[in-house]
Amino acid sequence: MRTELEGLAAENLALRGQLDALLREARANEDKLRRFEGLEHRLIGAGSVVELVKLLLCDYKPAFGIDSVTLSLLDRELELSRLLKTQGEPELEALRLLPLGDELEALYGMTPRPWLGPFDARRHGDLFGAVRPRSVALLPLLRRGELIGSLHFGSLDAQRYDAQAGTQFLERLAAIVAVCLESVLNQERLKLAGLTDMLTGVHNRRYFEHRCQIEIAQARRHHHALACLFLDVDFFKRINDSHGHARGDLVLRTVGLLIQAQLRAGDTVARWGGEEFVVLLPRAAAAAARDIAERIRQRIAVQQVPAAAGQVLNITASIGLAMLEEVDGSAADATLPAVAERLVAAADAALYRAKQGGRNLVVGPGIGALIS
Ligand code: GH3
Ligand code: MG
Ligand code: MG
Repeated sequence: MRTELEGLAAENLALRGQLDALLREARANEDKLRRFEGLEHRLIGAGSVVELVKLLLCDYKPAFGIDSVTLSLLDRELELSRLLKTQGEPELEALRLLPLGDELEALYGMTPRPWLGPFDARRHGDLFGAVRPRSVALLPLLRRGELIGSLHFGSLDAQRYDAQAGTQFLERLAAIVAVCLESVLNQERLKLAGLTDMLTGVHNRRYFEHRCQIEIAQARRHHHALACLFLDVDFFKRINDSHGHARGDLVLRTVGLLIQAQLRAGDTVARWGGEEFVVLLPRAAAAAARDIAERIRQRIAVQQVPAAAGQVLNITASIGLAMLEEVDGSAADATLPAVAERLVAAADAALYRAKQGGRNLVVGPGIGALIS
């Protein structure tokens, strides 16, 4: 009888132990789920590729106590590289952009699915940079069955990721990351489409008008100079008339690229309309701005644009230059849109004088200053 009771008590104790362990696990899972959902909301709310990537690479690690998180993204068209560059991002070590898909295909084979197990230097050599984890989770990022990237978690704990463990959380995370990535990329594409000139690839007038006000506000606040150039291709109508509209379009694209090539990172170039471009040069005093305008003029004048039957076409442009201090000096309280309009108008007036002066000239700043 006693032994039976003792047996029951022991069984009870064992059951309690198991129950406690299950409860602990349930609580830990609940806690993990809460943290996971928190991160999930932030991923869904990310407004840019940079924000999304930073959430994954910087915030995920401490939230889940992971030793290493890295990400590879397929970037066939170099679209992501361009986006990250224009958003002024310093290179994130844990992010690799892959122009080709072969590395991802080699990692996952024909049917990509999450892989958990020990780190294998031969297979995973580059994935974690200098860190050598002991166990890893590799998550393929898929959209419509296509591999678009791969997310990697590394742990110094050999037991953390093992082949027997459930992958439910990780699969859900990978699916969310893939959808969020596509969504922010689409948002960025839309933003760019609204602010870019489709023919030349430089910014459009709408973007310029917005940016001009920001630059004026900055220049006022920090007492910087701000220069504005207005550029117009000379006798462009003749180019269209004698070489056709398509050749004219090529000239416009070429001029856009040539201007861009002479500018620094914080400068702005936009197509104002037709064969007219506008440029903003923050922190450029009059003499420096004239040098830049002159370099642009000269560069365009030596460019040969291919024309039909192996011929080449020479082009020139006239440039008007105005400084913010010319239009802002007496009216520091003027509104930003009004000052922006005056700045562009002053550059346009200088351009008019360049045309009258014979074209292929830089004129400005100020009335009558003629520099060829
Ligand atoms: P000027 O030296 O005085 O500037 O003479 P211009 O011939 O360059 O000036 P005008 O304003 O008379 O001609 C501009 C031409 O630009 C007329 C228009 O048909 C052409 N144009 C406007 N937009 C485009 C475009 O997107 N593509 C092409 N190919 N031509 C365009
Ligand atoms: Mg014109
Ligand atoms: Mg013209």
